[in-house]
Amino acid sequence: MLLESVKVLDVDICIQQQDKFAARTRASADLSAILPYLNAIFKSADYNREADSLTFIHGIIEFSLIKDQINIKKFANRTELHELLDWMRELINDIWESRLELTPMYAARRRLPVINIFSLLPGTNCGKCGEKSCMAFAARLNKLEVKVDGCPALDMTGRNKLGIYFE
Ligand code: SF4
Repeated sequence: MLLESVKVLDVDICIQQQDKFAARTRASADLSAILPYLNAIFKSADYNREADSLTFIHGIIEFSLIKDQINIKKFANRTELHELLDWMRELINDIWESRLELTPMYAARRRLPVINIFSLLPGTNCGKCGEKSCMAFAARLNKLEVKVDGCPALDMTGRNKLGIYFE
């Protein structure tokens, strides 16, 4: 087992979404060795090998890991925070136990630019996604604030191509 426990250091209002919360926590172990495996699993991952840091999105929740720190943003309450920490601890330990069969990914993922996302959208500005335009949707997808299937008008080609970059 790599990660035995996680201690919550503090909880505050989330700056990005003020009806949600953000927390800083400390893991019982340095997590640097697990980051390339998480980078391989999460398409949303932003991995910096030099800094030993990784950020990824799970649902609407944003996780940032650096050494023994796990920071979590956009959770609803303490109950959800503890559920998320349990999930993260189990995930890390499962990966650690299976690491000889897994392939780590050390390269940083390339985030698809807004204009490239836009080029794959229908371009009709129909508003069915809740945004005023396809460009606005592309900008939010680039920031991982929405999901690919948030555009109901997207054809299979666009869906498959965007699916390579986004979960
Ligand atoms: S639903 Fe799709 S096509 Fe319509 S505005 Fe949003 S991104 Fe554009």
